[in-house]
Formats: sequence, C-alpha cells, structure tokens
Amino acid sequence: MGRSYNPVFGDLGTTIFTVMSALALKSGAVNLGQGFPDEDGPASIRAEAARVLHEGPNQYPPMTGLPQLKAAVADHSARFHGLSFNPASEVLITSGATEALTASIMALAAPGDEAIIIEPAYDSYRPALEAVCANVRAIRLQPPHFKLEEAALAEVFSPRTKLLIINSPLNPVGRVLTQGELELIAAYAKRYDSYVICDEVYEHLVFDGHKHVPLMSLPGMRERCVRIGSAGKIFSLTGWKVGWVQGPAPLIGVIAKAHQFLTFTTPPALQLGIAHGLTHEMNFALNLTRALESNRDFLSRTLTAAGFQVLSSEGTYFVTAGIRNLTNESDRDFCERMTRDGGVAAIPISAFYASGGPTDLVRFAFCKKREILEDAAHRLQNFFAVQPA
Ligand code: GLN
Repeated sequence: MGRSYNPVFGDLGTTIFTVMSALALKSGAVNLGQGFPDEDGPASIRAEAARVLHEGPNQYPPMTGLPQLKAAVADHSARFHGLSFNPASEVLITSGATEALTASIMALAAPGDEAIIIEPAYDSYRPALEAVCANVRAIRLQPPHFKLEEAALAEVFSPRTKLLIINSPLNPVGRVLTQGELELIAAYAKRYDSYVICDEVYEHLVFDGHKHVPLMSLPGMRERCVRIGSAGKIFSLTGWKVGWVQGPAPLIGVIAKAHQFLTFTTPPALQLGIAHGLTHEMNFALNLTRALESNRDFLSRTLTAAGFQVLSSEGTYFVTAGIRNLTNESDRDFCERMTRDGGVAAIPISAFYASGGPTDLVRFAFCKKREILEDAAHRLQNFFAVQPA
C-alpha cells in the first residue's frame, strides 16, 4: 500500500533500551544497559498480588485506580515529602510511569503548544509530545556537570510555553536538581503560566545525603505541577508497570480522560500488591538506596581502572562515563562493540538527545547483584587491557 504512517512513529527507531538488551542477549554480555534490577522486590508484595490473583478481584478495577492504592500513594507523598493529596480526586493509578507521562502529555498539550524538555531526556517524552502535535523545544544540558542555567530557561520559555517536563533524579546522568535550579524552574513556570510534568520515578534513589525535593512543594507550584511515580522503581518490580500521577484535581481529572482510552486501568492484583508495599515495605526502598550507592562506588572504581572518565552520579540506577581515553568511536559504535566483543552492555548517552548531544559518553546501570558487577568488572579489565590507549 502507498499509504504513509504517522511520521512520529513511522520514522522512529526501536528504543535504545530494547536494542541494547537484544544485543546483550545475543552476545552473552552482562547487561548493564537497560535499567532493571536483577533481584525482584519484596516477597510480601508478590505474595499479596498472588493471593489477589487467586481470590480476586480479577475484573476491571475502577478507572482511576483501586481506592486502597490511591490512599497508599497519597500517604507515601505525605510521609516522604509532606505533600497532601486527596486520594479520590488528586491521584490517578496508571500502567507504569510511561503511561502516566503519555496521559499527562495528551491531556495538557494541545496541537501547536510549545513544550520544553531538558536533554538528556528519557526517550518517550519527545515522541509523545510530537504525537499530539506539540512543538518541542529542548534545553541541552552540558557535560560534565549537566547543570541547568537560567540562560537556557530564558532562551526557551515564551508566552507560547504550555508545559515543561523535568526529571530529577535525572536518567541517564544521575543529577539531582538543586534547590536553586528548582527555584529557577518555578520562577519561569509561574512567569509564563506553564504546567510542569515532574518525572520523579527515582525519588528514593538519591545518594551522598542529597535530597529529592518535589518541584510541587515550592511556593505557588502545587496548582501547576503533576508528580509522576513508578512502583517498578521503588520496589524493584519494573515488569509490573504500576505507576501514578498526583496533582491538583482539575489536572488529574483531564489526565484521567486520556488514561481511560490509553489503558483504562491497571491489573488489580498488582495494584493491591503495591498498596501493600507502600504501606509495609518502604524499608526495602530505603535499603535499596544504600545498596545501590555501594554498587555505584564499586562500578565507578572499576570503570576508572579500565580507563573511563567517570562522572559523578547523585542518584538513579546509573553512572555515566567518558570514553575518549579508550576510543575515537561514537558512543553508539563503542557500546555495540563493547557489548559484542567485550561482553558488557551499556547505553550511549546520545540516545537521550534528539540531535547535537555528546557522543563520547555512555551509561552503565549498577542496579545489579554484586557478583554480576564483579563479572562485568573482570570482562572490562580484560577487554580494555588489550586495547590501545
Ligand atoms: N528506564 C529504563 C532505562 O532507562 C528502561 C525502560 C525501558 O526499557 N522502557 O534503562
């Protein structure tokens, strides 16, 4: 047929995470690419979900989520961030943070609106915005510090700005936005009367005493922000795809209109398992942060010893490292070769930029068992020992 597709998707490649995981599998490589833990989260959460699978309910739950989970999500925000949400009208349960992001974008951005993203950006933001015909303006954070400067905000914000998407702690480079950066964002969002979609999926994964502060907690921001979370990240259950979005009732109401035609709802057994987790298993999440901090240190030392220039990681599952001491290849070619020939997979940072991003940085995931990281360390040592410097 001569018919064309929606170019947003017709011209799009497969997400880098799937590409690199497939190559890792084919090559028998240790997969430090796609960010998923290799140890499943708490048994009690899985037991509760299994119980519900057997005993029910197993039919469509309410469209906006089961009341038990909505209440647990609201309590979680109150406990950790002092934010208060009405579970009935200000919390929406989604099938993962990805759906929460897409539903929020569909609901808040109209065709022709300008939407700002901050690159490096999670790879779903731009296509979701383009699919609703929003005009995307990107701020490009610069290595090695990836700091948000006021000049960059001043350049992209305008009276046409409908919304901004922020992600802190930031995948892929592990930055946690400072109070000063949050205040700048708040000032611009208020000046231009814009919404902010806050992707906070790594909210508990902050290291070295850094603190995650939701933008929504700053003065005047409660009414214009939505805050997105992911149970997959909190409880190392990434395959469950249980997420949520919290915000003022009018915004959650319209986001629910998008959600009702994206997925309508999320499996009830998983919702009740996560409700149990948020109520009884938060120590798991806090211990995970400590374990990952130590993994980060181990992997950073390993990478430095292998010849990478390791950047600091203040949060998330990830550490970013420069490759120029090891190769002149692009980050993507390098990742493919290291996966195929070195037996360790990573993600090229340029995948988080539409264009013009750095091509000398790669991302490694450290949300893995220590013995897996040790295996990767041996492979990296062997592989780079024989490389020309
Ligand atoms: N967020 C994960 C990462 O950055 C991947 C999620 C996915 O594969 N869709 O690695």
